[in-house]
Amino acid sequence: MTFSAVIVAAGSSTRAGPGAPKPWRSLGGRPILRWSVEALASAGAAEIVVVTASERIAGADEALAGLSGWRAVAGGATRAESVRAGLAALTCPADQPVLVHDAARPFVTVDHVEALLAALAGADGAVPVLPVADTLKRGVDTITETVSREELWRAQTPQAFRLGTLREAYAAWPADAEPTDDAAVVERVGGRVVMTPGDPMLMKLTYPEDFAMAERLQTRIVRIGQGLDAHRWGPGEAVWLCGVKIAHDAALIGHSDADAGLHALTDAILGAIGEGDIGEHFPPSDPQWKDASSDRFLSHAVGLVAAKGGRILNADVTLVCERPKIRPHRDAMRQRLAELMNLPLDRVSVKATTTEGMGFTGREEGLLAQAVVSIETPA
Ligand code: MG
Repeated sequence: MTFSAVIVAAGSSTRAGPGAPKPWRSLGGRPILRWSVEALASAGAAEIVVVTASERIAGADEALAGLSGWRAVAGGATRAESVRAGLAALTCPADQPVLVHDAARPFVTVDHVEALLAALAGADGAVPVLPVADTLKRGVDTITETVSREELWRAQTPQAFRLGTLREAYAAWPADAEPTDDAAVVERVGGRVVMTPGDPMLMKLTYPEDFAMAERLQTRIVRIGQGLDAHRWGPGEAVWLCGVKIAHDAALIGHSDADAGLHALTDAILGAIGEGDIGEHFPPSDPQWKDASSDRFLSHAVGLVAAKGGRILNADVTLVCERPKIRPHRDAMRQRLAELMNLPLDRVSVKATTTEGMGFTGREEGLLAQAVVSIETPA
């Protein structure tokens, strides 16, 4: 069924603690506003109007980069004024269903939308509701009354109406009153608003602790990445391995500091998040990486993980060489890697082995490093 949507993202978020208003905060590496726009667009919204503070309209382009079918308009001083502005901006016919949604409820899904549109077919409005689980009390300092929970519901968004119905209801709403949702406006003019099953996942992020809970509620997956790197031995007095400089009678040859351990680990991370390989991010043909410390390659990959809302769980590096002896330096390497990846020490492993004189590592032509990481990211 064709529908349009108004997403209200104009509030000041005073209860959410310091920081940007809620729609612009990051959840799982994406602005909260983006979650709703993506969900409603994938549910098939023909037109999405995002209502936001006028100074945030430019910011919407950044937050919603790459998405189509939406546009941002300036909201008003109250939620009702903002909804009015959003409805005014819609170009769809008056009988088309419109979902009005709070940007602070990021976990809306196609199923929610379909249930609302189905319910709207026989009504003037449809609202997802949840029963009240806690006992309700009335009072100021002391309780004066225990309120029956019977027939009481918590209303969520999105709420569905036909555009014409909602516009007319808002036109009739008194200027000095402030509705807390859109159903109230339609109810007031005698509209028949039906209830659909709400969902705890449609919770509104209001207080600082809600954001932490929302981060935990996301579906997350674990990804594995592996990396391999080899460098040739050449003349020198020291070798960099896993971010630690070791005195040696040879050095590894490479464009950067040739730290094969860090290169393998960087590639493992890039592999886990599908971001290509180290050569793509730091081309050897680019003079700025000549003699570069490989710390920055790893830090860059760690930054990409964070940008995806991900978290490295653990890393395991194996160095394959006859010499130098790795064991005496292993703890320093683990410490350095843990520092670069912001991980506790027991999530980082560095191991070493020889190939008992066989192959290129055995003949001491070169050193081989292998790394495996696991990373948790939003699904
Ligand atoms: Mg390399």
